[in-house]
Amino acid sequence: MSNADTRWALVTGASKGIGAATATALAGQGLNVLVGYGGDRAGADATAQACTDAGVKARTVTADLGADLSPLTDAVDDVGDVAVLVNNAGITADGLLMSMSDDAFTKTLQVNLTASFALTRAVLRKMLRARYGRIVNVSSVVGLHGNPGQANYAASKAGLVGLTKSLAREVGKRGITVNAVAPGFITTSMTEDVETDGYLDQIPAGRLGDPDEVAAVIAFLCSDAASYVNGAVFQVDGGLFA
Ligand code: NAD
Repeated sequence: MSNADTRWALVTGASKGIGAATATALAGQGLNVLVGYGGDRAGADATAQACTDAGVKARTVTADLGADLSPLTDAVDDVGDVAVLVNNAGITADGLLMSMSDDAFTKTLQVNLTASFALTRAVLRKMLRARYGRIVNVSSVVGLHGNPGQANYAASKAGLVGLTKSLAREVGKRGITVNAVAPGFITTSMTEDVETDGYLDQIPAGRLGDPDEVAAVIAFLCSDAASYVNGAVFQVDGGLFA
C-alpha cells in the first residue's frame, strides 16, 4: 500500500473483542487507526496503545452509535486520508418476536445497520476522491441463517449483507471494495452469557473462534492484496455452516 504512513482506518467498537483485534491487525499493516468506542474508555486506550506500539498513530473517539455519530464523522473530516472503514460495533437485544419491544428492534437496527450506513456515507467521499477504499462490514452467520430469539439482530446483520453487495456494485469501478465477514461463535463479551456447549459438536473445529481469527480475515480484506475481492461474504465460523 502506498502512502501507508498517511492513511487512516476507522474501526468501530474497537475497545474490545473483534474490533480491538482488528484495529491491532490493521496497525500491524501500517495503517493509522481511529479507535471508535461506546463507553469502555480503558479498553479503547489499551487498543490505541497496541496500535502505537506497532509504530502507527492512533486516536480514540467515543460516540454512541445509537444516538450521535458526529464525533466519528468529525474525526473522519479531521484526519487526512480515511482509506479503510470497518463497521464492527454491534449489539444484541434478544427475545422471541411475539414479545419483542419496538425499542429492542429499532435500537438494534440503529446501532448495527443504520450507523454503518451513515459512517459509510461519511467516508465514501474521501475514498471516491482518492479512488481507493476498503470497507468491511461485520455481519454474522445469524444474518445468513437466522436464529430463534434474534429476529432483530438477524435482520440487522442480513441488512449489512444487502448494503455490502449493493455498494460493492456502486463503487467497484472506483478502486473501492466492500465486503462482509460473518463470524460464527467467537469468544468475546457478546458470547460470554451464551450457553455454547450444545453447539460445540456442530462446529467442525470443535471450539469457539478467537477474535484474532476474525481480525485476520478482515485485515486481509482491508489490504491491497484483496483488490479483486468485492461484494463477498466470508463466513468465519470454524465450519459451523459449511
Ligand atoms: P463485544 O461486545 O466484545 O464488542 C462490541 C463492541 O461494540 C464494543 O467495543 C462496544 O463498545 C461497541 N458498541 C456496542 N454498542 C455500541 C454503541 N451503541 N455505540 C458505540 N459502540 C458500541 O462484541 P464482539 O463479539 O467483538 O462483536 C463485534 C461484532 O462482531 C459485532 O457486530 C457482533 O455482532 C459481531 N459478531 C460477533 C460474534 C461473536 O460470536 N462474538 C458472532 C457474529 C458476529
